[in-house]
Amino acid sequence: MLRQFSKRINVNAIRARDFAQLILFRASSSDIDKDKFEVKINQTNETFELYEKKVNIASGKLKKFEFPFVYLRDNCQCEFCYHAQSSSRTLSWENFDVSIKPKNFLFDDSRNVLKVIWNDNEQHTSEYDYEWLKARNFSIENREHYLKTFYRPDKKLWTKNNFKSILQNFDFMKIIETDHELYDWLNCLAIHGVAIIKNTPQTENEIRRIAERVGFIRRTHYGEDFTVKAKEGASNVAYLTAPLQMHADLPYYHHAPGVNILHCLVQSKSKGAENLLTDGFQIVNIMKQDHPEEFEALSKILVNWYDVGKEESGPPFHSILRAPMFCFDYENKIERINHSIPQRDSFFTASVEDVKRWYKALAKFIELIHREAVEFKTEEGTILSFDNSRLLHGRKQYEDSAGNYRHLVGAYLDWDEIYSRLRVLQKELKKKY
Ligand SMILES: [Zn+2]
Repeated sequence: MLRQFSKRINVNAIRARDFAQLILFRASSSDIDKDKFEVKINQTNETFELYEKKVNIASGKLKKFEFPFVYLRDNCQCEFCYHAQSSSRTLSWENFDVSIKPKNFLFDDSRNVLKVIWNDNEQHTSEYDYEWLKARNFSIENREHYLKTFYRPDKKLWTKNNFKSILQNFDFMKIIETDHELYDWLNCLAIHGVAIIKNTPQTENEIRRIAERVGFIRRTHYGEDFTVKAKEGASNVAYLTAPLQMHADLPYYHHAPGVNILHCLVQSKSKGAENLLTDGFQIVNIMKQDHPEEFEALSKILVNWYDVGKEESGPPFHSILRAPMFCFDYENKIERINHSIPQRDSFFTASVEDVKRWYKALAKFIELIHREAVEFKTEEGTILSFDNSRLLHGRKQYEDSAGNYRHLVGAYLDWDEIYSRLRVLQKELKKKY
């Protein structure tokens, strides 16, 4: 099939140099003036330059899309080079020629497809849908658009002053039953780092139901879903009624859980037990600007985060991760904050000078996270969801007695699964891509 097709194109194809100034017109049957545009293709030494211009606009710049030959050959969509069913590239790179060039090319205006016959021995033929090419064009605007609207939504940082305006509520049963509520909740969580789910049934299984709408619970050495209640002899300070200092969970994991979901089944009736939340990325920005030395210390000096213990259900554990408090991604943007007073090891494998300046910087950080912390008490039947890599959370002290206690069920989710779910939902709900 492919060979026949290639042969036909070879016979009819015009040599590449004749196409250097190819101009094609395309018109839709419905509205000629509106949809009419011309595509001009220019071949340079290593790229195709595609120019698109709406013909009814006399002036105005041509849109230029540039595609390296090597990229086009690598992304051939034919059945030998690409397995559509698994969305996977299957072309062999063992004999791939990175300096491959087109022998012939043409733009099939009836199908809006760029056809390229390559100068390899087999004269391999590739076809590229024009919309497919446009969606992948290398312009700065297009790359930014893709990253913001499909890769991951941009985070919007908040402060104590505007927290009320960014905090959104979602409905438990709507999330269970409808994709748009699930999408809106996860999108809000990705942007603001915090969101509330209301009207949750009062059973211990609901946190699992909500997690399974996203994907699956992120397991840790404490298990999958966990219960937070004051109890004697607990192996984690979260169970005690003393105030829980602001922190991020599980900083000793290289792959730390991304999101906390905490279902409030019973809330303390006594004074206290308010949640504390701070947008830590905002604090990182403040420190970078106003306290550069402290920012540098918390970004560079490696701290030993650890957890030692044993849970009834599993073997003993001794986790250690050596990492700074502020961790940055591949583009040098803040990606994660490690902070936990209890889970910081007394083995601090840094120089004495670094240790001294690190403590000074920590004190500034703690001052700022308290200055910007919001306080609120979650109601029974709500699930508080928040970004564990970005927010610091804590809880004020409260009195625990036989008639007054507090009961939460929590679990973790991973950002990988959340972003994946968002993209799938976005395609389903036709919110572009
Ligand atoms: Zn191919």
